[in-house]
Amino acid sequence: MKITCPSCDAIYNIPSDTISEGKKTSANCKKCGGRIVVEVKVETTKRKHPRTKTKNLLSYVGIDDRGNEKEHGMGKALDISVGGILIETRNLIASKDIVLTATFEAKDKTSKIAGKVVYRWAEDSGVFRTGIQFIEDNEETRSFIINMIRDHSKQKTQY
Ligand SMILES: [Zn+2]
Repeated sequence: MKITCPSCDAIYNIPSDTISEGKKTSANCKKCGGRIVVEVKVETTKRKHPRTKTKNLLSYVGIDDRGNEKEHGMGKALDISVGGILIETRNLIASKDIVLTATFEAKDKTSKIAGKVVYRWAEDSGVFRTGIQFIEDNEETRSFIINMIRDHSKQKTQY
């Protein structure tokens, strides 16, 4: 698997079997000395919340410590659960705080959701995957999750 240094974006290739599933390990970046935390994904069945596969497009805005916009871009939602979402992007998302916006087929509704980046890694194909945990359990968060799952089950019946 490929891992990326969050401080300088250096990419390292490490054998997948060096870390066991669900375990965390850390190392110092050879280039900049920054700390890199590596966490291996846990299989769906072991997760706390069941995940539903999705393929909605969404946009993200990364927020810095002062609450200002630091970066933004487009991504694709890969799966979603009550606790969080996994997204795929072309660029590495370096921010810890993030706001996601998605437009849903149902009622052409746009929803925003705030989250924290809990892990990120680079796929061999060169795209980045970011796991985001939802911060607020409110009406907006719930409608975001429900609409995304609803859109996906609609897409499935069309094919
Ligand atoms: Zn580094």
